[in-house]
Amino acid sequence: MAQIELQGVSKKFSPKDDRYAVEHLTYTIPDGSFVSLLGPSGCGKSTTLNMIAGLESVTEGSIVVDGKAVEDLEPHKRDLAFVFQDYALYPHLSVADNIAFGLKMRKIPKAEIDRRVLESAEKLELENHLKRRPKALSGGQRQRVALARAIARRPGVLLFDEPLSNLDALLRDKTRAELKLLHADIGATSVYVTHDQEEAMSLSDVIAVMSAGRLEQYGTPAEIYRTPATEFVAGFVGKPRMNIFDATVVGPHRVRLDGTSLEVEVPEADLDGHTTVRLGLRPTECTLEPGSETEHDGTIMVVEPLGNATDIMLRLGEGVFIVREPGFSTLAPGDHVRLDAREAEPHVFDAETGNRLG
Ligand code: ATP
Repeated sequence: MAQIELQGVSKKFSPKDDRYAVEHLTYTIPDGSFVSLLGPSGCGKSTTLNMIAGLESVTEGSIVVDGKAVEDLEPHKRDLAFVFQDYALYPHLSVADNIAFGLKMRKIPKAEIDRRVLESAEKLELENHLKRRPKALSGGQRQRVALARAIARRPGVLLFDEPLSNLDALLRDKTRAELKLLHADIGATSVYVTHDQEEAMSLSDVIAVMSAGRLEQYGTPAEIYRTPATEFVAGFVGKPRMNIFDATVVGPHRVRLDGTSLEVEVPEADLDGHTTVRLGLRPTECTLEPGSETEHDGTIMVVEPLGNATDIMLRLGEGVFIVREPGFSTLAPGDHVRLDAREAEPHVFDAETGNRLG
């Protein structure tokens, strides 16, 4: 197993680039933990993973594994295995030979290879498919072969680049749960790239949220959800998205959402000398009540029943506000409603920097 320290790691693909693809990442991935790199397309997740793997060079900074700088080591000299989105299996080899491939390259004795192939195949329920070629398997089974191949090596570090994104929704959920069990079983330090916040939340001990090459927040799923460090994190994590509005400070503890008469209580410290802020409210923490033509906060635009909940979009001032209600709703488009945010945990951000206040 292994602890991975990123020390000021930056990447420029060309000296002429005026922008870093990855900029000054400094954090520690603890030994045996499962850490996700989460962010939108192009934010630098894969580049970061590839630098840890040695598939990309590091422009500045250092990657230290168990106290030893590894950024100048060839990938095969680093104690890690990679699981790719497209599985990267050898089509002409059987499942058993695919799983054994990395072990043969390392000149491990045949009896030991056979033992490890069987053990890995059993962990991933592939023992009845060992003689098949990858093309005779489903997408989910191919991904399991890629996983079996990675764990057969018994590496200290497992690296995953969007490994579930080619699977359909049902299989993705099932494989996600299996990955979690597998991690608990083998305990290798795991670094997992995804743009899917739900995947990151459900799998990880710690999440590194990235945007435009930079680290926005490094924290547990609960920290990232409950106390997002920036407006970006607040908007990226949680479904439906957090409602984030411009707001004007109207009292020591009060802000009013711009363009509306809706006022929300916030902790005094959060306002600290500001006259305007950005205010975030989670859709699951707000409720709606029927209003009238003359007395209402907003008008319903869209009602989306989901079975266990209903998402309701309303026009509020100049913006659109989402409320998620449990079960089915009796509200309909065109209805005038009052919005109740008294039970909601307000998230307050600096209007200029987007940083959390308070
Ligand atoms: P995705 O989820 O779409 O793969 P990502 O978050 O993994 O996105 P990266 O692939 O790491 O993002 O890309 C980060 C930035 O670096 C992007 O602006 C991308 O265009 C750029 N980039 C990536 N690879 C190269 C390359 N080989 N040459 C030049 N620029 C690159």
